[in-house]
Amino acid sequence: MNKVNSLGLFVGTGDCNAHCKHCAGVLHRKYAPKQDGTIDKDLLYKTIKSCYEQGARSISISSSGEPTLSPIAVTKVLDLIHRMQEEDINYSWINLYSNGIRIGNDKEFCNQYLGQWRNLGLQTLYITVHDLNEKRNAKVYGVAEYPSLKKIVSRIHSADLRARANVVLTRDNIGTCEKYISMAEGLRKIGFDHVSAWPIRNADDKMDLELSPSPGELEKMGNWAETHETPNCRLRVLREKSHESYEKGEKLTLFPDGTLSNTWCN
Ligand code: SF4
Repeated sequence: MNKVNSLGLFVGTGDCNAHCKHCAGVLHRKYAPKQDGTIDKDLLYKTIKSCYEQGARSISISSSGEPTLSPIAVTKVLDLIHRMQEEDINYSWINLYSNGIRIGNDKEFCNQYLGQWRNLGLQTLYITVHDLNEKRNAKVYGVAEYPSLKKIVSRIHSADLRARANVVLTRDNIGTCEKYISMAEGLRKIGFDHVSAWPIRNADDKMDLELSPSPGELEKMGNWAETHETPNCRLRVLREKSHESYEKGEKLTLFPDGTLSNTWCN
């Protein structure tokens, strides 16, 4: 069996405050618990332990909806991972995926949970960004308004957490190296500590050759990112090579139906 590098966990109900056209979470929602706070502690414990023993040192919490809408479940899972340190199970990186909407719109939520999650070991919030312009971001997310990215990043930093922007590269939106550079520079200026970008994938979990930027442009983006990192902002352009680790089973995800798989299309 291949060594495991990282583990993804689906946590919380499938509720979401956005309405993206091509939502990858929809397929998995029917298996998600109906109420926030419901977790399969036994399965999570066994999976987290077994992946650690096979070499995993990084955990990413995501959801079939938006995890910040299930804060009780997220807190319980972080608490479980935290307590496992007593058994010498020490994950080095713990991250949470979010669309950023609740973080930008709900100060009370941020005050109540973000610091608590940091104390339980969370390090980085991964915010999916479609556009630097909030109106265009709102359009892709299918919401009337999207909060300011500056506010989102500042609330994350106020809780002493790091903010990573996740950018999906499509031919229509960020199809050229020039566009990628302006996006990366803009996100860096807003204060993101890390900008990670990858070409859009299709239903077979492969790079979508029709919708993705051309291989030549992706190569240029990757080369630019490698030579323009700063100590305050990491830049990554993930290409098909980086995805091979999923296929080799190095990155596993525990889905809401209890399946542990290296692909989202199970
Ligand atoms: S934010 Fe994520 S879970 Fe919510 S609708 Fe969009 S893709 Fe789906």
